[in-house]
Amino acid sequence: MPITAPPSATTLLAVDLEAVVANWRALQSRLERAECSAVVKADAYGLGATRIAPALAAAGCHTFFVATLDEGIALRPLLPGVTIIVLSGALPGAEDTFAAHAIVPVLNSLSDITCWQDFARKTSTARDAWIHIDTGMNRLGLTSSDARTLAAEPGRLTGLNVLGWMSHLSSADQRFHPASSAQLGRFQQHLARLPKARRSLANSSGLCRGRAFQLDLVRPGAALYGINPTPEVENPQRPVFTFTARVLQVRQVDPGMTVGYGVTHQVTRSGRIATIAAGYADGFFRALGNRSRVFIGGQPAPVVGQVSMDLITVDVTALPESTVWPGCLAEVIGPHRTVDQAATEAGTIGYEILTALSKRCHRVWLPEAK
Ligand SMILES: *Cc1c(COP(=O)(O)O)cnc(C)c1O
Repeated sequence: MPITAPPSATTLLAVDLEAVVANWRALQSRLERAECSAVVKADAYGLGATRIAPALAAAGCHTFFVATLDEGIALRPLLPGVTIIVLSGALPGAEDTFAAHAIVPVLNSLSDITCWQDFARKTSTARDAWIHIDTGMNRLGLTSSDARTLAAEPGRLTGLNVLGWMSHLSSADQRFHPASSAQLGRFQQHLARLPKARRSLANSSGLCRGRAFQLDLVRPGAALYGINPTPEVENPQRPVFTFTARVLQVRQVDPGMTVGYGVTHQVTRSGRIATIAAGYADGFFRALGNRSRVFIGGQPAPVVGQVSMDLITVDVTALPESTVWPGCLAEVIGPHRTVDQAATEAGTIGYEILTALSKRCHRVWLPEAK
């Protein structure tokens, strides 16, 4: 990947749109007949929804999920003709805005359904919606008893054009987790009593757990962005970005000196410390002080001392002097330190690493394949 950063930039996030599209196609190739949508909420997990969603649309993706209506509105003009669905649903008062932008809500409760139905009646227009039935997350969606009420009182759907029924898996990232099959079973039971429409259950990991989970439409997010959907085996997805930061200074240190806030690192041998322009404000978690590393010229440089807001300090004593100079780029996330490795080090998941990448980073998007 050719990477260039303007002199004004001290951190660089280079997103490879071709890799995102390749990941979407790789997921699609696992499907028998289901449609592969794309989840682009939270600015495509921090990587730039306004670039990524149009690249996926050009590759043939025609259903996009966002979390909030604002996210949907931002994407609407960039995605003519595709379906944009808001997972967090339609709060009362937002109906006109959904309609004005031709954005579809996921209805998450009987009262959501009633509101949307009132809106359809008031405007004398059938209104599109997806309906979410909870099968074990207890987060969003109709409860089991709500779903039975809906099945018993089909009049509650009059005026609605139900595009699909969805539910969400709690534990698909764990292979053979009993919760997944239990949720599928519960979802099927509800669907048997409800009017026919498309069915969607699987996120990235879910769609990798077999055809039974794929149903009519799958909703991958993480795997598009290079997070391993099947952590028990090698990542089948491609990494889609590199995050690099410039070395600002290289200094000689001697035994007895300390590095950084709180004097948590004591120098025991003469050597060199490089100060790098990435801190917790850029998404390099503070928890990684004294326990992570970056790569310079492909060589590991351990983080010493605490992580500051804008800076980290790394020990480059073992690296040839010619490879570390002010202005050179250190790899923070990339081929040598993957998103999943960064997550493990920080005691979190790749999703949080991605969405923590800061707006301050200079971003470039490398063009998608033609
Ligand atoms: C975020 C989200 C997804 C995408 O999940 P990944 O694990 O990132 O593939 C799918 N469905 C719902 C309801 C979500 O909230």
